[in-house]
Amino acid sequence: MTLPSNLLQKLEEQTRLTSEDALTLFEKGDLLALGHFADLYNQSKNGNTVGYVVDRNLNYTNVCVLRCKFCAFRRNKKDEDAWELSYEEINQKIEDLIAHDGTQILMQGGHHPDFKLDYYTNLVGHIKSKYPKITIHASPPEIHHIAHVCKLNYHDVLSALKEAGLDSIPGGGAEILDDPLRQKISSGKCNSAQWLEVFETAHQLGIQGSATMMFGHHENYAQRVAHLQQLRDLQDRTQGFFAFIPWTYVPGNSPMAGQQVGSHDYLKTLAISRLFMDNFKNIQISWLTQGIKVAQVATQFGGNDLGSTLLEENVLRATGGANHTHVEEMKRIVSEMGKSARQRDTFYRYLN
Ligand code: SF4
Repeated sequence: MTLPSNLLQKLEEQTRLTSEDALTLFEKGDLLALGHFADLYNQSKNGNTVGYVVDRNLNYTNVCVLRCKFCAFRRNKKDEDAWELSYEEINQKIEDLIAHDGTQILMQGGHHPDFKLDYYTNLVGHIKSKYPKITIHASPPEIHHIAHVCKLNYHDVLSALKEAGLDSIPGGGAEILDDPLRQKISSGKCNSAQWLEVFETAHQLGIQGSATMMFGHHENYAQRVAHLQQLRDLQDRTQGFFAFIPWTYVPGNSPMAGQQVGSHDYLKTLAISRLFMDNFKNIQISWLTQGIKVAQVATQFGGNDLGSTLLEENVLRATGGANHTHVEEMKRIVSEMGKSARQRDTFYRYLN
């Protein structure tokens, strides 16, 4: 196991890592050594429990005015396979979720040109009044889009959504918080400062959520580290994130094409994330992009949460490369690692 000696001591003593340290670990860190320390660190924070949540995505529309290069999901308004879900269809999906003991929906749609704030507050209010036990979360780019379309600030949009019943923000759309890169892969989406500002405002309003990173496309290690640093800095200020979720770009059917990174890079990034993000309690594993077998190993590389069972997911499935799992499989793979799987809610509180 090879690690630079000054870093070995820091990892043994669980001293906060600098961004230079993290970059060195990306460039020179041995995967098994990183996994060893990430697992120890995770156990000191979370023991041997691995969480999961039963939920579904609610892709209320796939109509989007943007053209992110990694996206195979978006459609133009007039495309034959464009959709806008009716309340009846939404109700059916939530009733199916409840029948599976589900507790959460992730609202995830395209940036529809005609949907104003009242569309979202009405939808959230409808779900909350009909299904009060279901928690709802929606991503920063959607908040930014609503603010942009309605010429409002984030505070006003988030306050209105919170009043309607929004519970948390899942952190999608972060990709890599580096503006030249974002300009290249997701031009028109909120920029890094705006993504962070949505979260900082949400945290000030008492809306918590999770932070993400999509890696394995055009970014380099330094950009990944800078992304982690920005999230850690915000967490130092607000303590508003429940979890960090690094996931890998899935190339199928998207204009950006390219290759998907392998499990070595994924596990290394997960382990470094666990070690660097010392103010995050939970690090979530991405079985959706890496598959359940890699997810199983990831429980020993710093990950303590398998995220959602995703009874329905359409954004990654549009790439043709997404994976599937279910509660029984999650429980089995976790128990084979000598750990125990427990269902949790949106707020990372264990149920039962
Ligand atoms: S990733 Fe989201 S914002 Fe970007 S094109 Fe796809 S649906 Fe639109």
